Amino acid sequence: MSEKPYRVLLYYKYVTIENPEEFTSEHLAFCKELGLLGRILVSSEGINGTVSGTVEQTDKYMEAFRQDPRLADTIFKIDEEEGHAFKKMHVRHKKELVNLSLEEDVNPLELTGKHLKPTEWFEQMQDPNSVIIDARNDYEFDLGHFRGAIKPDIETFRELPQWIQDNREMLEGKKILTYCTGGVRCEKFSGWLKREGFDDVSQLDGGIVTYGKDSEAQGKLWDGQCYVFDQRISVPVNRVEHVVVGKDYFTGEPCERYVNCANPECNRKILASPESEEKFMKSCSHECRTHPRNLYVKANELTPEQVEARVKEIAEWEANHSSNLA
Ligand SMILES: [Zn+2]
Repeated sequence: MSEKPYRVLLYYKYVTIENPEEFTSEHLAFCKELGLLGRILVSSEGINGTVSGTVEQTDKYMEAFRQDPRLADTIFKIDEEEGHAFKKMHVRHKKELVNLSLEEDVNPLELTGKHLKPTEWFEQMQDPNSVIIDARNDYEFDLGHFRGAIKPDIETFRELPQWIQDNREMLEGKKILTYCTGGVRCEKFSGWLKREGFDDVSQLDGGIVTYGKDSEAQGKLWDGQCYVFDQRISVPVNRVEHVVVGKDYFTGEPCERYVNCANPECNRKILASPESEEKFMKSCSHECRTHPRNLYVKANELTPEQVEARVKEIAEWEANHSSNLA
Protein backbone atom coordinates (compact mmCIF):
# COMPACT_ATOMS: atom_id res chain seq x y z
CA MET A 1 0.00 0.00 0.00
CA SER A 2 1.33 3.44 -0.90
CA GLU A 3 1.99 5.84 1.93
CA LYS A 4 0.47 9.19 1.11
CA PRO A 5 0.38 12.01 3.67
CA TYR A 6 -3.41 12.53 3.66
CA ARG A 7 -6.53 10.42 3.88
CA VAL A 8 -10.16 10.79 2.97
CA LEU A 9 -12.53 8.95 5.31
CA LEU A 10 -16.07 8.02 4.36
CA TYR A 11 -18.41 6.53 6.93
CA TYR A 12 -21.92 6.31 8.32
CA LYS A 13 -23.48 4.85 11.41
CA TYR A 14 -27.16 4.46 12.10
CA VAL A 15 -27.55 4.76 15.88
CA THR A 16 -29.82 6.75 18.15
CA ILE A 17 -28.18 10.03 19.06
CA GLU A 18 -29.86 11.90 21.90
CA ASN A 19 -29.61 15.70 21.67
CA PRO A 20 -28.29 15.72 18.08
CA GLU A 21 -28.00 19.53 18.07
CA GLU A 22 -25.62 19.43 21.00
CA PHE A 23 -23.71 16.54 19.43
CA THR A 24 -23.42 18.57 16.22
CA SER A 25 -21.80 21.62 17.80
CA GLU A 26 -19.45 19.52 19.94
CA HIS A 27 -18.47 17.43 16.94
CA LEU A 28 -17.76 20.51 14.84
CA ALA A 29 -15.52 21.90 17.57
CA PHE A 30 -13.70 18.56 17.79
CA CYS A 31 -13.15 18.35 14.01
CA LYS A 32 -11.82 21.91 13.92
CA GLU A 33 -9.51 21.20 16.82
CA LEU A 34 -8.10 18.22 14.91
CA GLY A 35 -7.75 20.27 11.71
CA LEU A 36 -10.02 18.07 9.60
CA LEU A 37 -11.98 19.35 6.62
CA GLY A 38 -15.16 17.84 5.26
CA ARG A 39 -18.90 17.48 5.47
CA ILE A 40 -20.78 15.62 8.20
CA LEU A 41 -24.49 15.19 8.83
CA VAL A 42 -25.82 14.44 12.28
CA SER A 43 -29.36 13.39 13.04
CA SER A 44 -31.21 11.66 15.84
CA GLU A 45 -30.88 8.51 13.67
CA GLY A 46 -27.10 8.62 13.31
CA ILE A 47 -24.11 10.20 11.62
CA ASN A 48 -22.84 10.26 8.02
CA GLY A 49 -19.68 11.96 6.93
CA THR A 50 -16.70 12.35 4.71
CA VAL A 51 -13.60 14.15 5.96
CA SER A 52 -10.03 14.69 4.87
CA GLY A 53 -6.92 15.20 6.98
CA THR A 54 -3.39 14.01 7.60
CA VAL A 55 -2.73 10.43 8.63
CA GLU A 56 -2.28 11.59 12.23
CA GLN A 57 -5.46 13.69 12.26
CA THR A 58 -7.59 10.94 10.77
CA ASP A 59 -6.11 8.37 13.19
CA LYS A 60 -7.16 10.57 16.12
CA TYR A 61 -10.62 10.99 14.62
CA MET A 62 -11.17 7.25 14.18
CA GLU A 63 -9.83 6.61 17.67
CA ALA A 64 -12.42 9.02 19.10
CA PHE A 65 -15.14 6.95 17.43
CA ARG A 66 -13.76 3.76 18.94
CA GLN A 67 -13.91 5.38 22.39
CA ASP A 68 -17.58 6.31 21.98
CA PRO A 69 -19.83 3.30 22.71
CA ARG A 70 -22.43 4.57 20.23
CA LEU A 71 -19.94 4.79 17.38
CA ALA A 72 -17.31 2.20 18.31
CA ASP A 73 -18.09 -0.21 15.45
CA THR A 74 -18.32 2.42 12.70
CA ILE A 75 -16.65 1.21 9.51
CA PHE A 76 -14.39 3.73 7.79
CA LYS A 77 -13.57 3.57 4.09
CA ILE A 78 -10.11 5.03 3.75
CA ASP A 79 -8.54 6.55 0.63
CA GLU A 80 -4.93 7.67 0.68
CA GLU A 81 -4.49 11.07 -0.97
CA GLU A 82 -1.87 13.75 -1.56
CA GLY A 83 -3.91 16.51 0.09
CA HIS A 84 -7.25 17.62 1.48
CA ALA A 85 -10.43 16.88 -0.50
CA PHE A 86 -12.42 19.77 1.01
CA LYS A 87 -12.03 23.49 1.55
CA LYS A 88 -14.09 23.82 4.75
CA MET A 89 -15.36 21.90 7.73
CA HIS A 90 -19.13 21.56 8.04
CA VAL A 91 -21.08 19.58 10.59
CA ARG A 92 -24.81 20.01 10.17
CA HIS A 93 -27.83 18.79 12.04
CA LYS A 94 -30.60 17.34 9.87
CA LYS A 95 -33.87 15.65 10.59
CA GLU A 96 -32.85 12.58 8.54
CA LEU A 97 -29.49 11.23 7.37
CA VAL A 98 -30.84 10.61 3.88
CA ASN A 99 -33.88 12.19 2.32
CA LEU A 100 -36.38 9.77 0.79
CA SER A 101 -39.29 12.16 1.42
CA LEU A 102 -41.27 9.42 3.14
CA GLU A 103 -44.40 10.22 5.06
CA GLU A 104 -43.50 7.50 7.49
CA ASP A 105 -39.75 7.12 7.92
CA VAL A 106 -37.91 3.78 7.88
CA ASN A 107 -35.52 2.91 10.70
CA PRO A 108 -32.73 0.76 9.19
CA LEU A 109 -31.91 -0.55 12.66
CA GLU A 110 -35.31 -2.26 12.58
CA LEU A 111 -35.84 -2.98 8.89
CA THR A 112 -33.28 -3.16 6.09
CA GLY A 113 -32.23 -5.39 3.19
CA LYS A 114 -29.74 -8.21 3.45
CA HIS A 115 -26.12 -7.01 3.41
CA LEU A 116 -24.03 -8.59 0.66
CA LYS A 117 -20.25 -8.74 0.85
CA PRO A 118 -18.47 -7.68 -2.36
CA THR A 119 -17.89 -11.27 -3.54
CA GLU A 120 -21.54 -12.21 -2.85
CA TRP A 121 -22.65 -9.10 -4.69
CA PHE A 122 -20.46 -10.00 -7.67
CA GLU A 123 -22.10 -13.43 -7.88
CA GLN A 124 -25.67 -12.28 -7.34
CA MET A 125 -25.38 -9.53 -9.92
CA GLN A 126 -24.95 -12.27 -12.50
CA ASP A 127 -28.06 -14.21 -11.43
CA PRO A 128 -30.57 -13.87 -14.31
CA ASN A 129 -33.36 -13.34 -11.76
CA SER A 130 -31.60 -10.31 -10.23
CA VAL A 131 -32.62 -6.73 -10.83
CA ILE A 132 -29.94 -4.21 -9.92
CA ILE A 133 -31.22 -0.78 -8.92
CA ASP A 134 -28.93 2.22 -8.70
CA ALA A 135 -30.07 4.21 -5.65
CA ARG A 136 -28.31 7.46 -6.49
CA ASN A 137 -28.93 10.68 -8.39
CA ASP A 138 -28.92 10.76 -12.19
CA TYR A 139 -25.59 12.58 -12.58
CA GLU A 140 -23.93 9.96 -10.38
CA PHE A 141 -25.24 7.15 -12.57
CA ASP A 142 -24.18 8.91 -15.77
CA LEU A 143 -20.51 8.90 -14.77
CA GLY A 144 -20.44 5.24 -13.79
CA HIS A 145 -22.60 2.31 -12.66
CA PHE A 146 -22.74 -1.47 -12.41
CA ARG A 147 -23.13 -3.16 -15.75
CA GLY A 148 -26.79 -3.94 -16.34
CA ALA A 149 -28.04 -1.74 -13.50
CA ILE A 150 -31.34 0.08 -13.89
CA LYS A 151 -31.21 3.84 -13.80
CA PRO A 152 -34.49 4.98 -12.29
CA ASP A 153 -35.91 7.81 -14.36
CA ILE A 154 -35.50 10.39 -11.60
CA GLU A 155 -33.26 13.33 -10.84
CA THR A 156 -32.78 12.90 -7.13
CA PHE A 157 -32.78 10.07 -4.64
CA ARG A 158 -35.89 11.32 -2.83
CA GLU A 159 -38.02 10.65 -5.95
CA LEU A 160 -37.07 6.97 -5.83
CA PRO A 161 -40.04 5.62 -3.81
CA GLN A 162 -42.52 7.09 -6.28
CA TRP A 163 -40.58 5.63 -9.22
CA ILE A 164 -40.62 2.16 -7.60
CA GLN A 165 -44.37 2.39 -7.08
CA ASP A 166 -44.83 3.34 -10.73
CA ASN A 167 -42.64 0.45 -11.91
CA ARG A 168 -43.70 -2.27 -9.52
CA GLU A 169 -44.35 -4.94 -12.12
CA MET A 170 -40.70 -4.85 -13.24
CA LEU A 171 -39.60 -5.92 -9.74
CA GLU A 172 -42.26 -8.42 -8.71
CA GLY A 173 -40.79 -11.86 -7.99
CA LYS A 174 -37.24 -10.68 -8.61
CA LYS A 175 -34.16 -10.65 -6.46
CA ILE A 176 -33.66 -6.92 -5.88
CA LEU A 177 -30.10 -5.66 -5.45
CA THR A 178 -29.54 -2.03 -4.48
CA TYR A 179 -26.32 -0.07 -4.27
CA CYS A 180 -25.08 3.45 -3.58
CA THR A 181 -21.72 5.16 -2.96
CA GLY A 182 -20.97 4.16 0.63
CA GLY A 183 -24.10 2.29 1.67
CA VAL A 184 -25.95 4.88 3.76
CA ARG A 185 -28.75 5.45 1.26
CA CYS A 186 -29.39 1.75 0.65
CA GLU A 187 -29.78 1.02 4.36
CA LYS A 188 -32.95 3.06 4.28
CA PHE A 189 -34.02 2.43 0.69
CA SER A 190 -33.77 -1.36 1.00
CA GLY A 191 -35.72 -1.20 4.29
CA TRP A 192 -38.40 0.79 2.53
CA LEU A 193 -38.55 -1.80 -0.30
CA LYS A 194 -39.15 -4.52 2.29
CA ARG A 195 -41.89 -2.50 3.92
CA GLU A 196 -43.46 -2.14 0.48
CA GLY A 197 -43.77 -5.91 0.34
CA PHE A 198 -40.74 -6.95 -1.73
CA ASP A 199 -39.18 -9.80 0.21
CA ASP A 200 -35.94 -10.61 -1.62
CA VAL A 201 -34.04 -7.36 -1.13
CA SER A 202 -30.27 -7.07 -0.75
CA GLN A 203 -27.85 -4.16 -0.54
CA LEU A 204 -24.16 -3.85 -1.34
CA ASP A 205 -22.49 -3.70 2.07
CA GLY A 206 -20.20 -0.66 2.28
CA GLY A 207 -21.32 0.53 -1.14
CA ILE A 208 -19.41 0.98 -4.38
CA VAL A 209 -16.36 2.36 -2.60
CA THR A 210 -15.89 -0.81 -0.54
CA TYR A 211 -16.55 -2.99 -3.59
CA GLY A 212 -13.74 -1.24 -5.47
CA LYS A 213 -11.29 -1.84 -2.64
CA ASP A 214 -12.13 -5.51 -2.14
CA SER A 215 -9.15 -7.66 -3.11
CA GLU A 216 -11.32 -10.39 -4.66
CA ALA A 217 -14.12 -8.44 -6.32
CA GLN A 218 -11.68 -5.75 -7.51
CA GLY A 219 -14.55 -3.60 -8.73
CA LYS A 220 -15.43 -6.07 -11.48
CA LEU A 221 -18.55 -5.36 -13.60
CA TRP A 222 -18.39 -1.68 -12.68
CA ASP A 223 -18.23 0.64 -15.69
CA GLY A 224 -16.97 4.21 -15.55
CA GLN A 225 -16.01 6.08 -12.39
CA CYS A 226 -17.70 6.58 -9.04
CA TYR A 227 -18.98 10.10 -8.35
CA VAL A 228 -17.91 11.36 -4.91
CA PHE A 229 -19.06 14.45 -3.02
CA ASP A 230 -15.70 16.16 -2.58
CA GLN A 231 -13.13 17.96 -4.67
CA ARG A 232 -11.97 14.75 -6.30
CA ILE A 233 -15.42 14.48 -7.98
CA SER A 234 -14.73 10.89 -9.01
CA VAL A 235 -12.74 7.85 -7.91
CA PRO A 236 -11.87 4.67 -9.84
CA VAL A 237 -13.68 1.42 -8.94
CA ASN A 238 -12.95 -1.34 -11.45
CA ARG A 239 -9.32 -2.41 -11.13
CA VAL A 240 -9.50 -5.02 -13.90
CA GLU A 241 -10.81 -2.93 -16.79
CA HIS A 242 -11.94 0.63 -17.40
CA VAL A 243 -14.95 1.09 -19.66
CA VAL A 244 -15.95 4.71 -20.11
CA VAL A 245 -19.73 5.14 -20.00
CA GLY A 246 -19.89 8.91 -19.40
CA LYS A 247 -20.83 10.95 -22.47
CA ASP A 248 -20.07 14.55 -23.27
CA TYR A 249 -23.34 16.41 -22.76
CA PHE A 250 -22.87 18.36 -25.98
CA THR A 251 -21.18 15.97 -28.39
CA GLY A 252 -21.98 12.53 -27.00
CA GLU A 253 -18.28 11.62 -27.09
CA PRO A 254 -16.91 9.48 -24.23
CA CYS A 255 -16.20 11.81 -21.30
CA GLU A 256 -15.64 11.58 -17.54
CA ARG A 257 -15.19 15.23 -16.68
CA TYR A 258 -17.90 17.13 -14.78
CA VAL A 259 -18.39 20.88 -14.85
CA ASN A 260 -21.17 22.92 -13.30
CA CYS A 261 -23.39 24.95 -15.61
CA ALA A 262 -22.21 28.57 -15.63
CA ASN A 263 -25.68 29.84 -14.79
CA PRO A 264 -25.40 29.99 -10.99
CA GLU A 265 -29.13 29.52 -10.65
CA CYS A 266 -28.91 26.27 -12.63
CA ASN A 267 -25.53 24.89 -11.51
CA ARG A 268 -26.40 21.57 -13.19
CA LYS A 269 -23.59 19.03 -13.39
CA ILE A 270 -22.73 18.34 -17.01
CA LEU A 271 -20.10 16.06 -18.48
CA ALA A 272 -17.96 18.12 -20.85
CA SER A 273 -14.50 17.99 -22.37
CA PRO A 274 -12.39 21.17 -22.06
CA GLU A 275 -13.17 21.87 -25.74
CA SER A 276 -16.93 21.50 -25.25
CA GLU A 277 -16.84 23.58 -22.10
CA GLU A 278 -15.25 26.42 -24.05
CA LYS A 279 -17.30 26.03 -27.20
CA PHE A 280 -20.69 25.87 -25.44
CA MET A 281 -19.86 28.57 -22.91
CA LYS A 282 -20.02 26.05 -20.05
CA SER A 283 -23.80 26.34 -20.14
CA CYS A 284 -26.37 23.56 -20.40
CA SER A 285 -28.97 25.44 -22.46
CA HIS A 286 -29.71 28.58 -24.40
CA GLU A 287 -31.51 29.97 -21.35
CA CYS A 288 -28.47 29.39 -19.16
CA ARG A 289 -26.08 30.81 -21.76
CA THR A 290 -28.04 34.06 -21.93
CA HIS A 291 -28.76 34.29 -18.22
CA PRO A 292 -27.80 37.75 -16.90
CA ARG A 293 -25.57 36.24 -14.18
CA ASN A 294 -23.76 33.72 -16.44
CA LEU A 295 -20.32 33.11 -14.90
CA TYR A 296 -18.63 32.16 -18.17
CA VAL A 297 -19.66 35.47 -19.73
CA LYS A 298 -18.40 37.26 -16.64
CA ALA A 299 -15.08 35.40 -16.45
CA ASN A 300 -14.38 35.98 -20.16
CA GLU A 301 -15.65 39.59 -20.04
CA LEU A 302 -17.82 39.05 -23.10
CA THR A 303 -19.76 42.02 -24.42
CA PRO A 304 -23.48 41.58 -25.24
CA GLU A 305 -22.52 41.57 -28.94
CA GLN A 306 -19.94 38.82 -28.38
CA VAL A 307 -22.47 36.74 -26.44
CA GLU A 308 -24.96 37.14 -29.25
CA ALA A 309 -22.40 36.03 -31.85
CA ARG A 310 -21.38 33.00 -29.78
CA VAL A 311 -24.97 31.99 -29.12
CA LYS A 312 -25.67 32.19 -32.85
CA GLU A 313 -22.66 29.98 -33.63
CA ILE A 314 -23.85 27.41 -31.09
CA ALA A 315 -27.35 27.41 -32.53
CA GLU A 316 -25.89 26.72 -35.98
CA TRP A 317 -23.73 23.92 -34.63
CA GLU A 318 -26.74 22.38 -32.89
CA ALA A 319 -28.86 22.60 -36.04
CA ASN A 320 -26.16 20.67 -37.93
CA HIS A 321 -25.68 18.03 -35.25
CA SER A 322 -29.15 17.55 -33.79
CA SER A 323 -29.75 14.38 -35.81
CA ASN A 324 -26.68 12.72 -34.24
CA LEU A 325 -27.80 13.31 -30.69
CA ALA A 326 -30.71 11.08 -29.92
ZN1 LIG B 1 -27.89 25.29 -16.93
